[in-house]
Amino acid sequence: METPNSLGKISGWENMERNILAKIFGMLNVIDIIKGASRVCVSWFLASHDKALWKTIDLSNHKSIISRDPDNLDVLSDDEEHQYELRNILSEIAKFNSSVTTNLVFDYRYYIQEEELAIIAPRMPNVQKLSLPLYRNINDNSLMLTFSQWKNLQTLVITQPGLPYSDANFRAIGENCKSLTSLKLIRPLNNDLAYQIVSYFSNLKNLSLRGTALWSRELLWLVTYHQNLKNLNLLHCLYIDSKGFTRVYYDNNIKSKGLDTENIVQTATQKLDTFIVCPNHCETCNELRGRMQGGWDFYYNYCSLSNEQWKTDEIKELEF
Ligand SMILES: [Zn+2]
Repeated sequence: METPNSLGKISGWENMERNILAKIFGMLNVIDIIKGASRVCVSWFLASHDKALWKTIDLSNHKSIISRDPDNLDVLSDDEEHQYELRNILSEIAKFNSSVTTNLVFDYRYYIQEEELAIIAPRMPNVQKLSLPLYRNINDNSLMLTFSQWKNLQTLVITQPGLPYSDANFRAIGENCKSLTSLKLIRPLNNDLAYQIVSYFSNLKNLSLRGTALWSRELLWLVTYHQNLKNLNLLHCLYIDSKGFTRVYYDNNIKSKGLDTENIVQTATQKLDTFIVCPNHCETCNELRGRMQGGWDFYYNYCSLSNEQWKTDEIKELEF
């Protein structure tokens, strides 16, 4: 029969074993832990709850996770046997993460719905860095409820699972997340969006609109009236002047003559610490312009570039 002393030794040994297991599990991805390792035995199950494993939850580049747009039943992989619904995965994660998650990363292709937000928001109240694909389907009340639980948010990247629309309402985010200082948006900057950024994100220091389309008058307005902005990334952007779309086909560098952008360059250079634009002969932009043939190509090529490269950013706070 075991004495209390030997029990203590066993417990210490188990503890060490659990720590080693947790370190090994740190090399696995989320799916491997919740669908594999945690189901092997009790000690592996307990090790799977180690808090260090759940600080960052990276759900990007998982071919096994399906997130369906009800109107478009494309799936991410053909391997039916090893596919899991995003909603199911999130429910499982919520049993493990003990509210410790600070970094949450969604793939830009996921079609997030209100149900997904309702699962994660209350279980992840300490999220500080988030990439979230937001489409037009989420209603304002749901956004308000979600972001009211994410008051510690500091860095946010909003992607879209399809062609970017700019008519989303970001009031819920701005009103709740006063610590938000870094924001990246992959959607065209029009009048409405410029107004929302200035009004709702007044504490913003870093803004990236990398690879999107910008109406030059609205961009000037944003740069002029945002009080706290320090760093602005406009790499690979398309500038649309007040005369319309077709101007973008000729010469798209912000410093080119003929585009209505001189005031922007002047104001941004004076006001900001860092103002990132393309070099005079940007190979990426040249290639994209070469591919453009019509209005939809324009959006498709530019926005697919910015979606695919959403993890990359010249502002380090916005890198994932
Ligand atoms: Zn470029």
